[in-house]
Amino acid sequence: MSRQPSTRRSSFDEIESIVTHADAGLDPAHSIAPPVYQTSTYRIPEGTDLGAVADTPRHPGFYTRHGHPTHSRVETILARLEGAQAALAMSSGVAAVTATVMTLVSAGDHIVAQQGLYIGSQNLLRNVLPRFGVEATIVDQRDAEAFRAAMRPNTRLFMMETPCNPLLTITDLDRVAAIARARGIQTLVDNTFATPVNQRPLRHGIDIVVHSATKYLGGHSDLSAGVVAGRAELIARIWKSHLVLGGVLGPFESWLLLRGLRTLPLRMRHVNQTAQAVAEFLAAHPRVTTVYYPGLKSHPQHELARRLMSGFGGVITFEVRGGYTVAHEAIRRLQVITHAVSFGGTESLIVHPAEMWHGVFTDEQLREGGVSPSLVRLGIGLENAADLIADLAQALEGA
Ligand SMILES: *Cc1c(COP(=O)(O)O)cnc(C)c1O
Repeated sequence: MSRQPSTRRSSFDEIESIVTHADAGLDPAHSIAPPVYQTSTYRIPEGTDLGAVADTPRHPGFYTRHGHPTHSRVETILARLEGAQAALAMSSGVAAVTATVMTLVSAGDHIVAQQGLYIGSQNLLRNVLPRFGVEATIVDQRDAEAFRAAMRPNTRLFMMETPCNPLLTITDLDRVAAIARARGIQTLVDNTFATPVNQRPLRHGIDIVVHSATKYLGGHSDLSAGVVAGRAELIARIWKSHLVLGGVLGPFESWLLLRGLRTLPLRMRHVNQTAQAVAEFLAAHPRVTTVYYPGLKSHPQHELARRLMSGFGGVITFEVRGGYTVAHEAIRRLQVITHAVSFGGTESLIVHPAEMWHGVFTDEQLREGGVSPSLVRLGIGLENAADLIADLAQALEGA
């Protein structure tokens, strides 16, 4: 019997199929699971024009800083998930943000960035870019028009993150993208909290998406990685910066990331459902004063979140009655939920932002940023909702 032509896998559009098959055919090996190419360099086949290979952007068989077979697979899946022409994998989320921003701005340029960006992105804007002659204005993203008001003739980039720390605010991507487009300004969205399962910023007119793949994309708290996705021309330029900045994703980390991506839609469905149940439990609890979760009707931007997102992710923040001491004590009493920074792995993690940041920011700065002493951040993992709720109930009641 002759083999069917391999058109079978060319026509899928759904995320579950994309994460399973979009990288098929990118590897000559016949193994079902991909090999780990634990290598920094590659044999040069006879007759190769080495000069041409060295000059080929992102060649996956020249030198691992330029490209790698497993990176190609991860990038193909991520580009499909985000609806982008191309993607580029790097060693961390901050590596992806830095390489992207350093590509898009030059001395004398200006950035408009929203409040509450990831701390590494804030550090880039506050402490690194000014030394290279790039200024940034921070605006309240709950008003899309604030981006327009902050624009200057030299504004090149709008930076967003939605939902974002600490109060899970939502940025109106359609409106901010329209303001930027009218002026030829590039738009960048950190989509780490949502993942492409729940939100695809490029569909809303955004130019570039970045992720900390350390979180949900990897999904198991066992790797650091970052990804940027967008138009091929932009990704090619970002790759040139990346060659110099050097945030190369290790081969084994990229293999782990590929493995994590296979289950991303399944994991996110579970996380979305569990987080909704936990948020509703917390909202009804007498020892909790406020819950911030875009899936709750009480979230001030719930309607906007519904327009942008198909699910609301696993990060919930809430304030406990009794302030710093009670928040601290409740976290200490938890037995299923683990006290640790980060989120997006199989296990639920919880952190007390006021405790984490008091060395970096003054109390005044923390309050201005929405971090009250009683605020707690919970990242939902893959446990059963009933067990998480029981754990939170006993901890809150005992605290
Ligand atoms: C963790 C995180 C980052 C930074 O990613 P690393 O992989 O830790 O470098 C960036 N943005 C968001 C929203 C994050 O949560």
